[in-house]
Amino acid sequence: MSDRILQIFQECCRDLRPRAPIPEILVDFFAFANINNTIRLREGKLLVRLSDLLEGAPESVLHSIAHILLAKMYRKPIDAGHSARYRRYVSSHDLVRKAHLVRQMRGRKRIASAKGTIYDLEAIFEDLNSRFFHGLLARPQLTWSRERARNSLGHYDPAHNAIVVSRVFDSHRIPRFAVEYIVYHEMLHLKHPVKLRGSRRCVHSAQFQTEERLFPQLEEVKAFLKRL
Ligand SMILES: [Zn+2]
Repeated sequence: MSDRILQIFQECCRDLRPRAPIPEILVDFFAFANINNTIRLREGKLLVRLSDLLEGAPESVLHSIAHILLAKMYRKPIDAGHSARYRRYVSSHDLVRKAHLVRQMRGRKRIASAKGTIYDLEAIFEDLNSRFFHGLLARPQLTWSRERARNSLGHYDPAHNAIVVSRVFDSHRIPRFAVEYIVYHEMLHLKHPVKLRGSRRCVHSAQFQTEERLFPQLEEVKAFLKRL
């Protein structure tokens, strides 16, 4: 099994960079609580971690995830067919249920519902995930804060792998793009983890800020939040 996966990654490497030598590749399956896949380059070796939820996935799907991860690594365009095939597989009923069961077995409780009166944080997350992250971010817990906090608009809590959004935003007076921005910002924290000392340190690296500027209504949101 893992030999075949290695072959798939090597073939993908050759397709993406026909002239470059294929680096040493290590592929491992990890028991991520969510459907999470990562790739890193360390001392010339490509380290790939795939969620164990993909163990037993069809070869075409493994090929797609190999392509997506390698294309991201080498900053090549991601083929739309691969991206669609991977998303289809992940969102297929079975896998979502499996992820949910695994989450339950691993003892993660749902703190509160992601569904507010007006906005559904899970729907917003999934939409942003496919628009900005090729569907690659594993969904954390998403909850509205219990209090209508104004000092904290939202935060990512790595200890509980949860994005919490202030309930102030669950209102018809708040435009959807403002909620999207809060979630997008916290998704960037998910994507760019910080070595934390205090639990709520909020560090925005240059790369974080560059990606944040990809949010289409950034200026409108900032103006809106100032008035809030
Ligand atoms: Zn932040």
